[in-house]
Amino acid sequence: MNIIIFGPPGAGKGTQSKFIVDKYKLYQLSTGDLLRNEIKNKTSLGLKISSIMNKGELVSDQIVSDLIEKTISDKNFENKIIFDGYPRNLAQAKNLDSLLEKYNQKIDVVLKLSVSLETVLKRILERQTIEKRADDNKETAIKRYKTYEISSELVLNYYSRSNLVKVVNGEAGISEINIEISGLIDGIKG
Ligand code: AMP
Repeated sequence: MNIIIFGPPGAGKGTQSKFIVDKYKLYQLSTGDLLRNEIKNKTSLGLKISSIMNKGELVSDQIVSDLIEKTISDKNFENKIIFDGYPRNLAQAKNLDSLLEKYNQKIDVVLKLSVSLETVLKRILERQTIEKRADDNKETAIKRYKTYEISSELVLNYYSRSNLVKVVNGEAGISEINIEISGLIDGIKG
């Protein structure tokens, strides 16, 4: 099963992905984590993208596409991926479908975490005290939320056409969201 976990920054996508990975033995593909790793390791890609990411802007579709293809093409992760932070716009959603098709796979469900800007800001500012991410400040968080709002509708409409979207109340507590997500995944697995 391949899953997309979708929602604004600070919605809890990473936290919920880790739970899904443990419970269903999947692999979390977080484009944000992969990009932050490039920056941490001071690779040439990392140097190129650090200021873009720190400003809360999206890096180019081609860069992230190359990163995700490495995982999609890996037989060890075949039909075992949870996409966290990808796709973020319609072009990426279409690109993901082509890549999956190339490796004979598909998306089974899109879990959409619905969360308000107010909750997102509260969570991001809490996370800032722990993870110290350069893009976790109020101004950048608002910008990232607005970017999400602009592109998310097209992405969700795209997946809704194939009936893949399941909406999860992201305002609830971590364990309540865990339970809701488990129910949805179990329902799909049948
Ligand atoms: P995230 O960890 O998902 O909140 O992503 C952090 C940052 O990484 C974003 O604000 C973007 O700068 C970059 N990023 C992550 N995923 C993508 C993506 N799919 N497309 C473009 N940029 C991305």
